[in-house]
Amino acid sequence: MMTDGAAEAGWPAMEGLVYLDCHATTPIDPRVAAAMWPFLTEHFGNAGSDHAFGWAAAAAVDRARAAIATAINASPEEIVFTSGATEANNLAIKGVAEAYLSKGRHLITVATEHAAVLDPCRYLQTLGFEVTVLPVDGWGLLDLAALARSIRPETVLVSVMLANNEIGLLQPIAQIGQLCRDRGVLFHTDAAQAIGKVPIDVAAMNIDLMSLTAHKVYGPKGIGALYVRRADPRVNLAPQLHGGGQERGRRAGTLFVPQIVGFGRAIELAVAEMAAESVRMAALRDRLWSYFDPARSGLAVALNGHPTQRLPGNLHLTIEGLNPADVLNAVRPIAAVSSGSACQSESGKPSHVLQAIGRSPGPKSTALRFGLGRFHTEAVIDRVGQGILEALRRLVSETASIPRN
Ligand SMILES: *Cc1c(COP(=O)(O)O)cnc(C)c1O
Repeated sequence: MMTDGAAEAGWPAMEGLVYLDCHATTPIDPRVAAAMWPFLTEHFGNAGSDHAFGWAAAAAVDRARAAIATAINASPEEIVFTSGATEANNLAIKGVAEAYLSKGRHLITVATEHAAVLDPCRYLQTLGFEVTVLPVDGWGLLDLAALARSIRPETVLVSVMLANNEIGLLQPIAQIGQLCRDRGVLFHTDAAQAIGKVPIDVAAMNIDLMSLTAHKVYGPKGIGALYVRRADPRVNLAPQLHGGGQERGRRAGTLFVPQIVGFGRAIELAVAEMAAESVRMAALRDRLWSYFDPARSGLAVALNGHPTQRLPGNLHLTIEGLNPADVLNAVRPIAAVSSGSACQSESGKPSHVLQAIGRSPGPKSTALRFGLGRFHTEAVIDRVGQGILEALRRLVSETASIPRN
């Protein structure tokens, strides 16, 4: 079990500024790094080469592929390695759109999806495809009846994410999958935030395609996978990268063996520790919330997203009545958190997810996303909670003492 000293357990030092942005990325677990090292050094072979160096690499890829398949109740031939979830989403959406042209040109997705789903859909619109973007309720939940109504004979794909990267909402994926299966439409889910955090069973959930990534679950960056169902209904997919015929022709390019080995080990560890870790994480998250809970803090703070149907490590707040720049200046020396999602913070645009749930921040409100992780302890969470609470109270009293004009 991890103790208070993250560095002592082999994690990167977390002294001073506490990293609380695990939805953006996570550090590599030392056990994952250890598994990768031999493949960055002596076992450098190309997994496609027919000699001992290649065989060693190919055997390691096979083990990782089997571990990932087992974790989601799939078979190894159904795993296509990609550079991450962005590429997996692009392959799923564009690959299905292209393969099912004779069926139709209509896709369905949801307003709260990641840009890596929404942007490929927008791109397809420029090519003449029609895309229905379904709204969500105040918690971020998709209305199943609205989804059912939007399915047409020419619909080729429904794409709904498993866990939201901002508010942590968990969609009722098994029900959505069942609906799509009943209506004969392929179902894709972006599970980048969900893999290793909540149980996933592609058979029980009727998932046809699923995007995964390693770096949100203590694995390396630059590696992910697309699960592609091969049993009935078998999914046809037009490859988006052509070349050496790797991954059964579905994704060309020399396999990045060290990353794949790290991905496999990261998933193995996360799944083995999930039951205990999700309980621990949810308790830490609730502990952090208890500092801000308006009933106790006296601050104007609202919880965004669903009270229970959310990722165990996700806390998303809106702080009202203070200048956002002041709030961020107060928080940033204490904890590395995100205001919105990392992918959008550059643009300064309001989060499309908060907009979709009717919580778009006004000029005096600040949205903060806390992403808790494996290396956090009660002591660290208490330090952050106490520190930010005090900083916010100071801001409130300063604001109150400035006479209004
Ligand atoms: C991080 C993330 C992605 C992008 O994954 P990469 O592997 O970084 O390309 C896609 N979807 C969701 C929901 C994410 O959280």
